[in-house]
Amino acid sequence: MHQPALPHLHAADPALAALIEGEATRQHDKIRLIASENYVSPAVLEATGSVLTNKYSEGYVGRRYYEGQQFVDPVEELAVERAKALFGVEHANVQPYSGSPANLAAYLAFLEPGDTVMGMALPMGGHLTHGWSVSATGRWFTPVRYGVRADTGRVDLDEVRDLALKERPKLIFCGGTAIPRTIDYPAFAEIAREAGAVLAADIAHLAGLIAGGAHPSPAGHADVITTTTHKTLRGPRGAMIMSTAEHAAALDKAVFPGLQGGPHNHTTAAIAVALKEAAAPAFSAYAHQIVANAKALAQALLERGFDLVSGGTDNHLVLIDLTNKGVAGKPAARALDEAGIELNHNTVPFDPRKPFDPSGLRLGTAAITTRGLTEADMPRVAAWIDEVVRAHEDTGLLSRIAAEIREFMGARPMPGWAPAP
Ligand SMILES: *Cc1c(COP(=O)(O)O)cnc(C)c1O
Repeated sequence: MHQPALPHLHAADPALAALIEGEATRQHDKIRLIASENYVSPAVLEATGSVLTNKYSEGYVGRRYYEGQQFVDPVEELAVERAKALFGVEHANVQPYSGSPANLAAYLAFLEPGDTVMGMALPMGGHLTHGWSVSATGRWFTPVRYGVRADTGRVDLDEVRDLALKERPKLIFCGGTAIPRTIDYPAFAEIAREAGAVLAADIAHLAGLIAGGAHPSPAGHADVITTTTHKTLRGPRGAMIMSTAEHAAALDKAVFPGLQGGPHNHTTAAIAVALKEAAAPAFSAYAHQIVANAKALAQALLERGFDLVSGGTDNHLVLIDLTNKGVAGKPAARALDEAGIELNHNTVPFDPRKPFDPSGLRLGTAAITTRGLTEADMPRVAAWIDEVVRAHEDTGLLSRIAAEIREFMGARPMPGWAPAP
């Protein structure tokens, strides 16, 4: 049963209600290892499903284009103040619809079309919006890209500096979607300063770890910090842009009216709730447990002969290169999903295979940590992964493991859904 319950939806649209309950059951029964996913609290779900979705409020607190902002203004104010306090920044904009539009706002604030942007290449672990070719950011701007070293699987900051000084980008992104190692924000800030570039730290994956003190913060180093709110931060689907006071006006103007119309007030409220949750001491314990779990899972996978990009992890994320296992990422991911372990196939640095059929698997521990799994559970999770990868075509084995996992996860409560009593 969904929590909050969905009685009106069941009555008005049983087909849709059944789909939502089905998805909730799926989330309950599986070991969810997609590195960008989580389980939000029932309080975040309630705010997301509230009447705030009915309200238009183009503009910013105290400067709106519509009347009736008596309650929406304080909602947004709360979200902004909580973001500033939690991340220790001078300015926060909580209106971007998601991470990609938040990054686009950074381009609009600082670049003209054709200007040079530097970011990590997508196949090396960067994000589409850091100037990858299929993205508008790679088509409308001139991208230069850094990667990781083949021998270490880590970013070589000397290479980044050389490239920045040669290409003189106006904007530099650090961060990405498949980076298992700590990001050196002071070093990136130094490079940006030397190159005369604005530094944007995209902390979409790391925001919860940073809030909980389990990863260094870019605050005080990066000019701009962009983030989603729905990954390790465990809030609703949404985003924020934070910055020094110096860049506040340009970024606000880029978000509205530059890119967006009315903010999604129900999302803003849910972001405020998530930020309150993230400021509590329990969240710091959660963030550290995410990392402890990822390290334990990486260790257990290494012991089973898995080849990990960079040899391990410092954060929530593990990137497996399956080449030595004789199976590609996609069939492995599909078999794992059938066996109750949900993750995604992923390119690995210098991948000899095609992006749509790559060599790797990416996994993260944010969601299973919310379910209460600890280091002690990780050898078991690694053993299941190993069994499936070895015998990924054995449908009998896949359904046996799916049943084992359903039972295993059944003992671990899920925020937002519980089996009918
Ligand atoms: C997830 C992610 C984004 C984009 O977020 P969406 O909400 O999916 O648009 C941007 N940057 C990084 C590094 C991400 O991991």
